[in-house]
Amino acid sequence: MRNYLLLTPGPLSTSESVRQAMLQDWCTWDKDYNEGVVTVIREQLLKLAGLDGEYTTVLLQGSGTYAVEATLSCAVRPQDKLLIVANGAYGKRMGDIARRHGLNHVLVSLKETAPVTPEAVRRALEEHPDITHLAMVHCETTTGILNPVEAVARAIRGRGLTFIVDAMSSFGGIPIDIRKLGIDFLVSSANKCIQGVPGFGFVIARRSFLSRCEGVSRSLSLDLYDQWAEMEKGHGKWRFTSPTHVVRAFFQAVKELEDEGGVEARHDRYRENHAALVEGMRRSGFRTLLPDELQSPIITSFLYPEEDFDFQKFYEALKERGFVIYPGKISEAPTFRIGNIGDVFPDDFRRLAEAVADIRRNK
Ligand SMILES: *Cc1c(COP(=O)(O)O)cnc(C)c1O
Repeated sequence: MRNYLLLTPGPLSTSESVRQAMLQDWCTWDKDYNEGVVTVIREQLLKLAGLDGEYTTVLLQGSGTYAVEATLSCAVRPQDKLLIVANGAYGKRMGDIARRHGLNHVLVSLKETAPVTPEAVRRALEEHPDITHLAMVHCETTTGILNPVEAVARAIRGRGLTFIVDAMSSFGGIPIDIRKLGIDFLVSSANKCIQGVPGFGFVIARRSFLSRCEGVSRSLSLDLYDQWAEMEKGHGKWRFTSPTHVVRAFFQAVKELEDEGGVEARHDRYRENHAALVEGMRRSGFRTLLPDELQSPIITSFLYPEEDFDFQKFYEALKERGFVIYPGKISEAPTFRIGNIGDVFPDDFRRLAEAVADIRRNK
């Protein structure tokens, strides 16, 4: 049934059972769907995050970026000022969103290989004491760097900032203590570590903060508050057509995450995948862009092994052997990326290592 293993960070390889869950049609106003599927998902997401009624969830049509845009444009009011500390494409994209929406904001762009540190945040806060909101990316998928969100959370504690975290590529695959870290809005999507198929994003929000967002958004379809209000009032009813098949697949994916043993167990498997990947690639002479201590167990950037390395040829050769990888996305050095999240296992990475060794021998 599989054309190839997707070693990209979303969409990713999903299980047969997740794909099979899409083989039924659902009515968007019937309670079997709204109460039996959507509401259950909303509750399960809170449970996965270890949260109670202090927090709530909103599901929103579109890819992850839609949910990030909906969050920023709803959470930052005209009297607020947003600080974005970026170290890759997704952090910069938050800057683009802020600019497009005319949000009062400051974008601090760090090097792509430098983590978002508490010092960088503190410095920006000293320079701009009127900051009310901080947004950052947890795992910057651009490079695979894991930003120290715990340390940043400690640094801003007690300052009364609204804390927005793009945990798109980490939620469900890396434990995040949302309450302890004081995160007010966490954004993720269906097709990353929960291992669903693409089609919607979701936001876990502190209820009291989301309640303040009524009437803020200048967008109708991306109004996170209105979407939430409708879901609450309609017991899981979406405003506008919901991606029913994708939602049903996600319901199955959440169940499979629980069956696996929850976020900790999935994190362990991703770490094993990652260890098998890096060990295999290093054996074939590849080097990682990042030092191990900055590296996430989600996606890894590898440097081109020689100046005239032909990525396209390497990509095609791997694809022929059943593995699809990802080009690089950074300006600092020529790289390519390999993701290790999804319905993939350490043995897959050992097979990948053999394929890579074989390709390099015959180059
Ligand atoms: C995947 C991802 C997004 C969203 O990307 P889409 O292509 O809109 O789904 C945002 N931030 C990060 C860190 C991501 O990995």
